[in-house]
Amino acid sequence: MRKEKGLLIVLSGPSGVGKGTVRKAIFSDPNVDFEYSISMTTRQPREGEVDGVDYFFKTREQFEQLIKEGKLLEYAEYLGNYYGTPLDYVKETLEAGKDIFLEIEVQGAKQVREKIPDGLFIFLAPPSLSELYNRIVNRGTEDDERIRGRMEKARKEIEMMDLYDYVVENDEVEKACERIKAIVIAEHCRRERVQHHYKKMLEVE
Ligand code: 5GP
Repeated sequence: MRKEKGLLIVLSGPSGVGKGTVRKAIFSDPNVDFEYSISMTTRQPREGEVDGVDYFFKTREQFEQLIKEGKLLEYAEYLGNYYGTPLDYVKETLEAGKDIFLEIEVQGAKQVREKIPDGLFIFLAPPSLSELYNRIVNRGTEDDERIRGRMEKARKEIEMMDLYDYVVENDEVEKACERIKAIVIAEHCRRERVQHHYKKMLEVE
C-alpha cells in the first residue's frame, strides 16, 4: 500500500511575535513527531547559534546559486538578508510520510501557500502592537532604526492573516504551543484528508 504523505505545517506571523521561541518550545517536547525544516540564511550567526542546527549559514553568492538551481521551496529577503527553505528535505520528508514544520516570515509563507495549497498554515498573532514593540525592544539585538523598520513591517504583516487557516495568539508560549499541537492533531482528522481510506475500505468489503 502506498504510504500516506506527511503534512506540511507552516508557522508564520509578524516580525517579533515570537515564532522562534514558540517553535523551540514545540520541539523541546519529546512527544512531538514532526520534523523541523532548518532554513538557510545569509545573516551572521548570533551568539550561541550553530550551523546546521539553527540555520545553514551561507554567503550571498552561495544563496543566489541555490536560487538559480531551484533548490529552495521559497525564499525572501528580510532586513537585508536572504532566508529560504531547502526544497529537497521538505519533499523527502513529506514523501516519507512524516510531517514537516516550517517557521518562516510571511512573504515566504505566501509562496509556500501558492505551491502547496493543502498545507496547514498557522498565523501566530501578537496580543497587541504595544506588546510586539516591547518584545522587539527587550530582545536588545536591534538599533532604533531597525526597530522602526520591524514595527512598520509588522503592521503590514498582520494584514496578511487572510492567507492562513488558523490564528494562534501568542499570549503565553506554552499556551500557544498547546494550541498549535492541537491544530495539527485536528488537521490529521480532517475529513478531506482521511475519507479516501474509508472509501477504499468499503470497496474491499
Ligand atoms: P531571525 O534573523 O530573527 O532568525 O529571523 C528573521 C525572520 O526570518 C523570522 O521572521 C523568521 O521566521 C524568518 N525565517 C527564518 N527562516 C526562514 C526561511 O527559511 N524563509 C523565510 N521566508 N523566512 C525565514
